[in-house]
Amino acid sequence: MNRKKIAVLVGDGMADYPVESLGNRTPLEAASTPNMDYLASNGVLGMARTVPRGMAPGSDTANISIFGYNPAENYTGRAPLEALNMGIEMGPGDVAFRCNLVTIDGEEAMADFSAHHIETEFARVVIDEFRREIAGAGIEFYPGVSYRHLMMWRDYPHGELPETTPPHDIQGEKVGQYMPRGTGSDLLRDIMERSRAVIADSAVIRGARSKYRGKPVSAWLWGAGRRPSLSPLAEKYGLYGFTISAVDLIHGIGRAVGLEPLRVEGSTGYIDTNYAGKADALLYAMQSANFVFLHVESPDESGHEGSLEHKIKAIEDFDAMVVGRVLNGLKRYDDYVILVMPDHPTPLSIRTHTADPVPFCIYGNNGFAGGAYNRRGISGFNEREASMTGIFVEEGHRLLEIILSERF
Ligand SMILES: [Zn+2]
Repeated sequence: MNRKKIAVLVGDGMADYPVESLGNRTPLEAASTPNMDYLASNGVLGMARTVPRGMAPGSDTANISIFGYNPAENYTGRAPLEALNMGIEMGPGDVAFRCNLVTIDGEEAMADFSAHHIETEFARVVIDEFRREIAGAGIEFYPGVSYRHLMMWRDYPHGELPETTPPHDIQGEKVGQYMPRGTGSDLLRDIMERSRAVIADSAVIRGARSKYRGKPVSAWLWGAGRRPSLSPLAEKYGLYGFTISAVDLIHGIGRAVGLEPLRVEGSTGYIDTNYAGKADALLYAMQSANFVFLHVESPDESGHEGSLEHKIKAIEDFDAMVVGRVLNGLKRYDDYVILVMPDHPTPLSIRTHTADPVPFCIYGNNGFAGGAYNRRGISGFNEREASMTGIFVEEGHRLLEIILSERF
């Protein structure tokens, strides 16, 4: 068992490009983040590549890196990880798909990849109708949180998987050209068309519509994959512990590497999430664990919305209520390390993920405390200063190894 207590704090999509209205500063530079700035100026600040060259910059790929695994070797798709977390068994022949509920407008454009943050209760009504009207013959639907659901295709009859497009990458674009293509895509396109008819025609869905703000128009299938196999963190590094997140994906990766999911009341994946509750859950969990991976989705959602105001608020709340609180709480241990970073940038200007390297900060009370890697003159946690330290971790999945060995 490893004695070091390791807290990984991920602000999803926090990194960004310089924004003109911020005087060409990034949101991380402009936001008031005294806690992350403290960690950066008293620990190790650098840049890391979490999305290997040539791979798509999904939260799945990037977070697998932060968990300490090379996505290029271990990635089988987002949906299977979420399935794992939802407790859905997957056989070797099964393929899982992410089933978003999305809003497509009258011009056939992707108006909102989240069906306007559809409420979980409303989404369940819709998924239940899919179960009644569309499921069967090896096709199953599983409701998740808000717009994020799953479709399982049992005993997928082909070798290759269909080509699909993440809906958050085509906001505002005509959807026709992005429908599933290639092997197995006929059935997927058919299911997506039928989902539109079910949503339009179902009396139950019509009845529910007036009670909620969500605007579902269609199912959007993507992120196909077979079940993953990753070696447990306990075997690899002697780490055991928990994941804290509003999104199934993070718990799914956690489960795949032997971590337990911790559910925190009021964690929504949006800017109103229960930040302090997550920090407190981490501190509680740390009493019986040596590794906790805490993930906050809201900066990423703000990036997808293109809302500067929300993104700054999400970053400031993450700093004050997660980073600050965790730092204070961990001070009671004689050997602890905090890793703070985004998984990938979600720049406001393009409203989707990029594969650019991200800033990271390692702060601890042993090898990294005021040690050889501490650079003088660092004033904050942001892309610009992190690039200037000259510390660059090309393989982001090595960060955990670096933390454990206390050297680069
Ligand atoms: Zn992400």
